[in-house]
Amino acid sequence: MDDAVAAATRQGVPNDLEAFWMPFTANRQFKAAPRLIVGADGMYYTTHDGRQVMDAVAGLWCVNCGHGAPRITKAIQAQAATLDYSPAFQMGHPRAFDLASRLADLAPGDLDHVFFTNSGSESVDTALKIALAYHKVRGDGGRTRLIGREKGYHGVGFGGISVGGIVNNRKFFGSLLAGVDHMRHTHDLEHNAFTRGVPEWGAHLADDLERIVQLHGPDTVAAVIVEPFAGSAGVILPPKGYLQRLREICDRHGILLIFDEVISGFGRLGTPFAGHYFDVIPDLMTTAKGLTNGAVPMGAVFARKEIYDAFMHGPEHVIELFHGYTYSAHPLACAAAHAALDTYAEEGLFQRCADMAPHWEDALHGLKGLPHVIDIRNLGLVGAIELEPRPGEPGKRAFEAFLKAYDRGLMIRTTGDIIALTPPLIVEKAEIDQMMETLAEVLKDLA
Ligand code: PLP
Repeated sequence: MDDAVAAATRQGVPNDLEAFWMPFTANRQFKAAPRLIVGADGMYYTTHDGRQVMDAVAGLWCVNCGHGAPRITKAIQAQAATLDYSPAFQMGHPRAFDLASRLADLAPGDLDHVFFTNSGSESVDTALKIALAYHKVRGDGGRTRLIGREKGYHGVGFGGISVGGIVNNRKFFGSLLAGVDHMRHTHDLEHNAFTRGVPEWGAHLADDLERIVQLHGPDTVAAVIVEPFAGSAGVILPPKGYLQRLREICDRHGILLIFDEVISGFGRLGTPFAGHYFDVIPDLMTTAKGLTNGAVPMGAVFARKEIYDAFMHGPEHVIELFHGYTYSAHPLACAAAHAALDTYAEEGLFQRCADMAPHWEDALHGLKGLPHVIDIRNLGLVGAIELEPRPGEPGKRAFEAFLKAYDRGLMIRTTGDIIALTPPLIVEKAEIDQMMETLAEVLKDLA
């Protein structure tokens, strides 16, 4: 532990936890038994009471290079001392352009234009707006409908929760965007429980898109948005051939396909993006998280050349897209992103993920047969363990697993009764084994 972390550890718990209204948190439970993090390095957090906790979820699916990656830390420090801020409206700084070019090179197909945001939620709302505006500027403004999917998570903006399909994220917030519909989800334990990798069964579920398109009329539909694999709803993998089928239906009807790669991007499946992994190229792609390794907030929306070009008409002094953020292409975020891309490349982390995936799969599926486990799923360095819900108390069993794991020095994430695991791509085999040992103890200890 270095001096700064040791000093932070000595701070202990603040006297008053009340004022901070914590996001996506059971505030009262937390404040009664706080879990404070004061430092992080590599695969481990340091807690306020001086314990080391292994991070099995890469922060929130973002710290793919591991915590405190030295190049990233140094790049942020140097950038802050050189150019702290510059506007991105009618102005620019060189590193933003370099970054966009690097990202375009990394992206699949002709996704070669990049719009910067500050989060996944902003990336999603940006992509939805670009899709709507694209049709409008081409004289096809009757295409106003957006289609998402049940159990989809696309952040928390009004656009994202409208196309998203997690009920609790929607039902408190009024009538949301008009003109949105949802395909059925692909989660099916009856056919696919304990599948290793993507399930064989279920490609036909993509035909639900054709049904919805025909219901509304193909020329009213602007875009379809899906996560290549659903993360926040508890790791739901696309059946073999499913994404190809979505692509075909979109092509048939002139509908834009948006992949939300906020968690699948930057190596999670062993390729730069999930589009590479599944060999399906969307028209727009949303990213964030691993873009900067989580060190500075940043998101990026990738658009195909044809989409960008469609806007580049009219008088040259006129703004082509009335959209952007004060912090789009923030210099500190650009510095962090450049350094994250360097780290991915120099440490070969995407390939490392691919190489580690078979060990991950075997270790994870070794938990089959333990109490309450009704499914285990995996792909790349992603895994999920689904537990039988306790009658009348949905989500409680998995939440208890989260607390027990934390007490035993392991940070996992739960959603409903599903445990999700997505370690930093630097994870070692021995750490995977340690993770599974701890999880086995936790599962045996659950009521
Ligand atoms: N889209 C997906 C697929 C996500 O998983 C997330 C966050 O987990 C988001 C969007 C929202 O990202 P943020 O929390 O950065 O707004």
